[in-house]
Amino acid sequence: MADLRFDPVFGCWVAIARRRRERPMEFTSSQEVQQQILCPFCRGNEDETPSQVVAFGDDGEVLSGSGGRETWLTRIVPNKYPSLAESPQVAAGGPYASFDTDGTQEIVVPSPRHVSSFSELTCDEAIIAMKACQHRNRQLASNPAIKHVMIFMNCGLDAGASLGHVHLQIMASPFASPYVHRRVKLHEQYNSQHGRPLLRSLLEWEADRQVRVVEQTDHFTVICPYASRHAFQTWILPRHGTRFPELSAAPLAELGLLLRQYVGCLETVLDKPSYNILFHQAPTAEQQEVGWYVELFPRLTRAAGYELGTDVWVNPVAPETAAKRMRSNRQAAGHTGSQGT
Ligand SMILES: [Zn+2]
Repeated sequence: MADLRFDPVFGCWVAIARRRRERPMEFTSSQEVQQQILCPFCRGNEDETPSQVVAFGDDGEVLSGSGGRETWLTRIVPNKYPSLAESPQVAAGGPYASFDTDGTQEIVVPSPRHVSSFSELTCDEAIIAMKACQHRNRQLASNPAIKHVMIFMNCGLDAGASLGHVHLQIMASPFASPYVHRRVKLHEQYNSQHGRPLLRSLLEWEADRQVRVVEQTDHFTVICPYASRHAFQTWILPRHGTRFPELSAAPLAELGLLLRQYVGCLETVLDKPSYNILFHQAPTAEQQEVGWYVELFPRLTRAAGYELGTDVWVNPVAPETAAKRMRSNRQAAGHTGSQGT
């Protein structure tokens, strides 16, 4: 069971998730396989997961009922070992507060094949994975009790993964953390001072200079952000204002392909690091105005004493250098897309 506890000293939430320790661990150190476990995400092992929430066929359409054992391409199941789960109200005395969680945590398995990285998905799998994430994002956010939806992926031990089979996770929670609210507040402050959305100003500034821009497509701009907190931090920013749950088919497909391409780019440039994919969305009630983006976070360094004590990150690679190396890699790979506006 998990309970959410509020830290009154630093103003952050902590999930105490005791069942996480029961997870089967496929890794030991680095990317080495610790043990050969029966992979619950491979085709044929569907009984090893809780009953599926929904599955999609290779045409991208929802498969009816619990069917599709032989034909699913993307499958969504509840997380058997959630970090957030239903829990009884935890009594909290003195300066402490806790939260009765009723959030949802689900796993998106984007391929029945035992591949480990988003870059190893086929183009169709990458596109349908985005469609599946959007499908569940919409459904979960329609529940008024859900205040925030976080889509993410952990790949490799250093990124927090416990199983090697590529999978994304969707966590829908009945609260938005102070971290999420801080971004909303910064947006509001900028908007009131300048009369326009912060992310729109940021995109225009970067597009004019082309120093930290890696690529611009019809619907997205890929950049290494000005104040990158870690080496090769990469953002995929939508160029238009549509929220992720309302993206139409073309930009949704483009997002899946960009993720596949840029995970592959970082794996080539950085020799296959562990990485996280993070969908930064605002609270469900506010995201139309605030904007959203997807972050690629290669796990090259660990937070050390200074970072832990001050929350000031030390980044050994300037984002301008990172963007240049990624552009070179993409051009060497034969990319011919527009770099201009
Ligand atoms: Zn597998």
